[in-house]
Amino acid sequence: MKTIEEPAREIPVYGEYEIVVLGGGPAGIAAAVAAARAGRRTLLVERYGFLGGMGTAAGVTNFCGLHANVHGEMHRVVQGISSDLLARIDRLDGLNKPHRILGKIFAQAYDTAAYKIAADGLLGHHKVDILFHALGAGVAMDGEARIHALFVETKAGRQAIRADIFIDCSGDGDLAAWAGAPFEVGDSHGRLLYPSMMFRLNGIDPAKAGDAWRTIPQLMEQAEAKGTHQFPRKAAIVRPQRSQIEWRVNFTQLKRSDGSAINGLEPDDLTRGEIDGRRQAVEAFAFLRTVPGFEKSYIVDLPPQLGIRETRRIKGGYQLSGEDVLGCASFEDSIGVNGWPIEEHVAGDVIFRFPPIPQSRGYNELPYRMLVPEKIDNLLVAGRCASMTHEGQSAARVSGACFAMGEAAGLAAALALRGNRVPRDIAIETLQRALKGQGAFIGRDQAVPEGL
Ligand SMILES: Cc1cc2nc3c(=O)[nH]c(=O)nc-3n(C[C@H](O)[C@H](O)[C@H](O)COP(=O)(O)OP(=O)(O)OC[C@H]3O[C@@H](n4cnc5c(N)ncnc54)[C@H](O)[C@@H]3O)c2cc1C
Repeated sequence: MKTIEEPAREIPVYGEYEIVVLGGGPAGIAAAVAAARAGRRTLLVERYGFLGGMGTAAGVTNFCGLHANVHGEMHRVVQGISSDLLARIDRLDGLNKPHRILGKIFAQAYDTAAYKIAADGLLGHHKVDILFHALGAGVAMDGEARIHALFVETKAGRQAIRADIFIDCSGDGDLAAWAGAPFEVGDSHGRLLYPSMMFRLNGIDPAKAGDAWRTIPQLMEQAEAKGTHQFPRKAAIVRPQRSQIEWRVNFTQLKRSDGSAINGLEPDDLTRGEIDGRRQAVEAFAFLRTVPGFEKSYIVDLPPQLGIRETRRIKGGYQLSGEDVLGCASFEDSIGVNGWPIEEHVAGDVIFRFPPIPQSRGYNELPYRMLVPEKIDNLLVAGRCASMTHEGQSAARVSGACFAMGEAAGLAAALALRGNRVPRDIAIETLQRALKGQGAFIGRDQAVPEGL
């Protein structure tokens, strides 16, 4: 690639904080709230004008991983800050009751507008400063192991933000990568989970549609056999939202011309993915209009961006693996749990793999070491870019585990500042005690929370 030299320039300092969180998805929301609630001057930086991450920006509209199938019984195992957020969404009448996926696990749909408003309220309540419409674009380092400042591009030009500790919740590990933290992309062959363009339909007749999510897979098979339609993948998810006239559609799969997954780190790939995603959505809609109850439906929302499931995964003190998920692993430095199975978006299909039901307890613990990157001292990384293998990430990338990781990272950063230590060296028992004291379930000796 040709290059040109950018002239050196003075960058205005937007602010100086104790803790700066990059990214306002589930991990970033929880990290910022936990840090500010612990009394630390905290800023959350987000490139869009709203919070929620993939949950709102990519139209996901459904929480997975808040629950686990514990010996055949559903329990809400991710609590803490996510409970406060869900209560706020519920007060806005934007939360569904949990519903079963594949008969084995619960998920919980929500209204996107309610999520955005609830998240604003939650961060405001805890006095988190927010900087929207600011794209993180690089870092200034203080030596090789300390981040001095985060650079952001804004409508007012490039600005610098200083902090003592940074938490990378960008989903893509942007901040960690700029700082020089080691990371991986894809499985051992570089294969990534395939992205999807989500969309929502409105105008569905709920009485006529009934449990259409059960019949749609067979209708798809019949349509393909007849040659009337062709689908980019099997295992489409089409389910009702809070208002039963509105359904979300998780149906598409975006690939390059060689068949490999669109890479969310490549601008040309992203461009192609957005355009192909909308085209696939229209094709899926043409089929869905033939399903009883969907005849008068219309596309009410194509989200602001393509849904990216996996890009960089930082290398930390421990990589959560697929075996850890399937074997419901325990860790002495547990900071939360994941109850979601492995959900691999492979070429043309979605493959789910669960821990044994009902023999297993249905969740694995998440070690603090997943959040602590190699090499960089004043950085934590939470959410789908935390330290996991490709298979481990295929499970713990969903919202529930991201909320848990974010909450732990925010509190850990605050504890590090209190003890004048780097996050890597905090006393893990203190973090665990504080998390439990604030209502989080971290596994270990705690009783599994009752209820949903
Ligand atoms: C199509 C699809 C369907 C899914 N379905 C479900 C589901 O049903 N249930 C579920 O729980 N999970 C689902 N997931 C997974 C889940 O939504 C994500 O893995 C989860 O949101 C990850 O949370 P996060 O906080 O780590 O990152 P993200 O949600 O990706 O949030 C990262 C945030 O950082 C911001 N950001 C990124 N880079 C920068 C930058 N350089 N500067 C400033 N801001 C930046 C982004 O705008 C975003 O707001 C789905 C994902 C996809 C793609």
